[in-house]
Amino acid sequence: MKVGIAMMSHETNTFSPVVTDLDRFSGGRGTPLSGPAAVAVYRDTASCLGGYIEIAEANGAEIVMGIAAGAPPSGRVEDDAYEYMCDAIVTLAGEVDALLLDLHGAMATKTYDDGEGELLRRIRTVCPELPIGVSLDMHANVTRQMIDNCNVLTGYHTYPHIDMDGTARRAARTFFAMLNGDARPTMHWDNAPMLPHVMRQGTDDYPNSALQDQAKALEQDECLAVSLFTGFPHADIHDAGLSVVTITDNNPEAAAAHCNALLDQAWADREKFVYEVEPLAQSMARAEATARQSDGTPVVLLDHYDNTASGGTMDTTEVLAAILAAGLEDVAVFGFYDPEVVQQMMAAGIGAEVTVNLGGKLPMPALAADSTPLTLTGEVKLLSNGKFKARVEMSRGLTINMGPSAVLALPNNVDVAIISRHIEPYDPECFRCLGMEPTQRRYLMLKSRIHYRVGFYPITRHIIECAGRGVCTSDYAEVTFENVRRPVYPLDGPLTGSNLSREEFAAGR
Ligand SMILES: [Zn+2]
Repeated sequence: MKVGIAMMSHETNTFSPVVTDLDRFSGGRGTPLSGPAAVAVYRDTASCLGGYIEIAEANGAEIVMGIAAGAPPSGRVEDDAYEYMCDAIVTLAGEVDALLLDLHGAMATKTYDDGEGELLRRIRTVCPELPIGVSLDMHANVTRQMIDNCNVLTGYHTYPHIDMDGTARRAARTFFAMLNGDARPTMHWDNAPMLPHVMRQGTDDYPNSALQDQAKALEQDECLAVSLFTGFPHADIHDAGLSVVTITDNNPEAAAAHCNALLDQAWADREKFVYEVEPLAQSMARAEATARQSDGTPVVLLDHYDNTASGGTMDTTEVLAAILAAGLEDVAVFGFYDPEVVQQMMAAGIGAEVTVNLGGKLPMPALAADSTPLTLTGEVKLLSNGKFKARVEMSRGLTINMGPSAVLALPNNVDVAIISRHIEPYDPECFRCLGMEPTQRRYLMLKSRIHYRVGFYPITRHIIECAGRGVCTSDYAEVTFENVRRPVYPLDGPLTGSNLSREEFAAGR
C-alpha cells in the first residue's frame, strides 16, 4: 500500500506584519524539501513526520514523501505560496492509497481564513474516497470543514509541545487500524465560545493540565483519540478558540458525550484561562528583588508580547530598553531578529566597536504604536553561522538554523544575540552556540511565551513576565478582533461570577 506523507504547517497571527512567503516554508532553502531528502531530515526526530514515518514503516507501507513545508509563525500566508503547497499535496493525493498530513490548524492565508480546511476540501474534491489522517498543533482553531474532510484527526496533549511525534503516532495507529479493517473511527467536534489566553495554556499549569489528563484518560478507555485544542486567539477567524475532537470506534453517541463533557469542563474553568498583565515598571522592580534573593539561578525576563513563535516581529525594543534603563547587570538577551545589524557587525568584524540601530524596524499597523529602534554602542563579541543541533525534546534530532548571527556586548555585561531568521529561544543551545552559558548569568531575557519552559525550567523557576510591545500582545484590548464569533469569552461579558452554560453564553443570554 502506498501511503503519502506531507507537511504544510503554519500558525498565522493575523495581526502580524511578518511576510509569509514560500521561502519561509523552506527553512532557508528557497523551496521546501520533499521526497527522500525530507525523509532523511525527519526520520527518528521528535517531529510529526518522524512519528508518521515510524508507524507507516511498521505497518509495511510504501512511503511516498510529499512536500515538507513548515514556516515559523507570522502573518497571513501569501496566496502563491499556499497554492504551491496545496497543488503539491493534491497531486500527491492522486498518487497514493492513503494520506497522512502534518498540519497546524491555525493557518490563514490572504484569501482563506481556514487554510487547512480548504486544503482538505480540495483533496476530497479530487479524491472523494481517499483515507486521510491529520495531526494538528494544540493551537489549532479547528473548523467543521477540517472535520468533514478527513477520517482521523488528532492534536498535541502538551504545551510546550513535546509530544509531536506521539501525536502523529496516535493519528497513524488509529488510521492504520481503520485501513486494516480493525476500527471504524467516528469523530465528533465542537467548540466553546472562549479564547483561552496563550500565557495560561501551558500544560504545567491548571486548568489545561487537568483537561489534557482527562483527554488522555479517555484514550485509555472508550476513545481511540481525544484532542483538546486550546486554540490560537491571535488568528482572528470565526472559529478561533477552544475546541475538542473525540474519536470512538463506531460509537457516535459516546464521541459526542465525551466531547461535550470536556467542553463543559473547560468552560467551567474559563476564568482561570484569563491572564492578568503586570505593568513593565513593576516587573523590572520585581526582577531586581528576585535576583537579590536568588539561589544563584538566573532570573528570566520574559518578553512575551514579542514571541516570534506566535508571529511576533522579534524586534521590539521596549523590554530591552527597560532593562538598560534599570541598569540590570549580567544579562544574556535572546534575541533580536535584525539581519541588517548582523551584516553591519560582520562587516565591522570581531572586536570592533559598533553603534547600531537595533530592532523596531517593522511597522505593526495592527497596534496603536510601533516599536522604535534602540541606538546602542558595543563590541562585536562573536559572529556565527547560527546553526545548532537541538537538544530539548521538542526538536530532538533537528538542526535549528538562525541564519547569520552575532553577539553585541554592551556595558554592564549585557550580551545581545542578534539573528537573521525567526527562532524562538526554547533550547538553551541557542545561547551556548553563541558563546553564552545561560546557567551562569544573573538574568536571561527571552522573547518567548510558554515554549521556553521546555529548556529553561530545568535551569530556573525565577520567571518575571514583562509586558513590552508586539503583535502577540497579551492585552486583548490592544488589537481589534473583527472575525471571531461573538459573544466570546473573555472579549464579552460577564467575565466573572457567572453560572451561564456555554450554550447560554453563546446565545447572548
Ligand atoms: Zn502550538
